[in-house]
Amino acid sequence: METASIFLTTHEAIQAIVADFRQYDPQIILFSNILPLMTDGRIHLKRESGRNGAWINRQGKPAMKWLNGPELVAYMCDAITQTRWHPQLLATVCARVFQTRASPETDTETENLGVCLETNMENFNCRQCGSCCRFLEYRNEVTPDDVAQWRAAGRKDILKWVDEIRLKNHTLSFRTWVNPITGEQTQGCPFLREGSQSGRWICRIHDVKPAICRQFPLSRKHAVMSGCRGFKKEA
Ligand code: SF4
Ligand code: SF4
Repeated sequence: METASIFLTTHEAIQAIVADFRQYDPQIILFSNILPLMTDGRIHLKRESGRNGAWINRQGKPAMKWLNGPELVAYMCDAITQTRWHPQLLATVCARVFQTRASPETDTETENLGVCLETNMENFNCRQCGSCCRFLEYRNEVTPDDVAQWRAAGRKDILKWVDEIRLKNHTLSFRTWVNPITGEQTQGCPFLREGSQSGRWICRIHDVKPAICRQFPLSRKHAVMSGCRGFKKEA
């Protein structure tokens, strides 16, 4: 059986790495593993046994600073965003972060540089348990392309659950899913409904669902970390 894979542009791959570090508890061992590659050994990280954080000497600053919790995650995400990526480095880091094979690739249609990731989706079987939609991991990851698609299709029923936010740098960000009556973000997706078979759930906007849903899970690791049972063998 052919191994399933996905092509991510350089930008998408960097976003996916950042999302991975944002989603889970600080992945300090993984970060200390990729940091020397990303910074050519210019930034040092030291762990301390029994403590959930790290000492880091930031670029141009000789003193080490203790970082943990959200501050450490923010530091990791900044370091990833500011790295000067080249295709081989990106593939090497993707392979470690997503625990799969990755190689530098050029999209034949667009000629965009990027990374080809093995997803192992040929071994994936969605159980329609709805867990990924009832306990959403994403809050602000709906993209301008998703929104443009809904606008073009006149999908006001979807757009009313999306809040548009203009950031300081004039780019747009989108909060989902925001209850149009209460103004609060929902824990689960409003477009999920129970199917006719007990315990099976269905996406009501399957044909136009956001890219982040179409790509879920990005890898076996992503599935395991988020509690998705799609890679488990049927009992
Ligand atoms: S958590 Fe996994 S198995 Fe369950 S519905 Fe989502 S993708 Fe399918
Ligand atoms: S849009 Fe569909 S796939 Fe995405 S979270 Fe909602 S119900 Fe699930």
